[in-house]
Amino acid sequence: MSKDYYNILGVGKDASQDQIKKAFREKAHVYHPDKKGGDEVKFKELNEAYQVLSDQTKRSQYDQYGHTFEQARSQGGGGFGGFEGFGNGQGFNINMDDFGDILGGFGDIFGFGGGTRPGRRRTQRGRDIEVVLNIDFKEAVFGVEREISLKKTASCSRCKGSGAEPGSGDETCPACRGLGQVGRMQRTILGNVQVQTVCPACHGEGKIIKEKCRYCRGLGLTNEIVNLKIKIPAGIDNGETLRFAGQGEAATKGGQAGDLYIKTRVSPDLKFRRDGFDILSKAEIGVSLATLGGKIDVETVDGPVELKIPEGTQSGRIIKLKGKGVPSLRGRNSFGRVQDKRGDHLVEVIVKTPTGLSRKQKEQLRELGI
Ligand SMILES: [Zn+2]
Ligand SMILES: [Zn+2]
Repeated sequence: MSKDYYNILGVGKDASQDQIKKAFREKAHVYHPDKKGGDEVKFKELNEAYQVLSDQTKRSQYDQYGHTFEQARSQGGGGFGGFEGFGNGQGFNINMDDFGDILGGFGDIFGFGGGTRPGRRRTQRGRDIEVVLNIDFKEAVFGVEREISLKKTASCSRCKGSGAEPGSGDETCPACRGLGQVGRMQRTILGNVQVQTVCPACHGEGKIIKEKCRYCRGLGLTNEIVNLKIKIPAGIDNGETLRFAGQGEAATKGGQAGDLYIKTRVSPDLKFRRDGFDILSKAEIGVSLATLGGKIDVETVDGPVELKIPEGTQSGRIIKLKGKGVPSLRGRNSFGRVQDKRGDHLVEVIVKTPTGLSRKQKEQLRELGI
């Protein structure tokens, strides 16, 4: 399947680096294209053989698999070079690294379709967590700090996620001899081909743990109850979601933790309603106050505030208490205008028609003629 580099250089399989270098120099001298009687094809072949055999890593890969990983990659995987355009016409570059140990057979490769790359097992992302947090009206207005408890997959605190018992170190993986990949013959419709897959023993790390962490049994992950202090910003509204990057579930070694999403549920308030950054409430006044005008105390999120009732106030009139609303989260009010202040508190004044008047009161009212 591949070229015999030892044969090309004319050296034995056990040749030393010096012997390889010497053999290359001698033959390069003969085949150099600039020389009379030189041979470009042979010279290129010679060069290729030398590039591989003069490099310890490449040489050991070549010895074991008949090619180097670099070659396997550039050809689209050990012997899979002709696959492009074979299936759906979109072509895909097969890199065995990416398939990990899920590569099962021929069908699986095409099953991935249109070039979608399945994630590497060892760089999987941790899961996201979504939590619904109940807060009350005033907490939503002014913001609140809450401590929440999450049961989640976390990085093991004993081994710091490495999976190794502290102080034990690691050793070269015996299954792949530290290469991180293993080759195996695979039967396909094109015949038997050798494929490289990520070493299942070390997941491509080339190293394995000498002694597994006693706490997580080598997983690097543990299920833990994690207490987190969450700061809910002032002005948040019912149903709005906050994202805390990296606070989701931890991933296996090398992977990124998921995110934590906190969805707020603001419990309804008896006195206040919210409309964007404005707060709405109602105040009942009597006929005489509505007629003559005066002052009343109304409840706001900041506490009681004096509200001036103008003379001749009709029921349903809305009186504005400026700046007593909700702080703007994003520096904008509900009309999209930039603002760096709070919304308003709008009080709807309800004039109560008196009931259960005494005969005397009724007579006095009649005398007034209103
Ligand atoms: Zn551990
Ligand atoms: Zn291995």
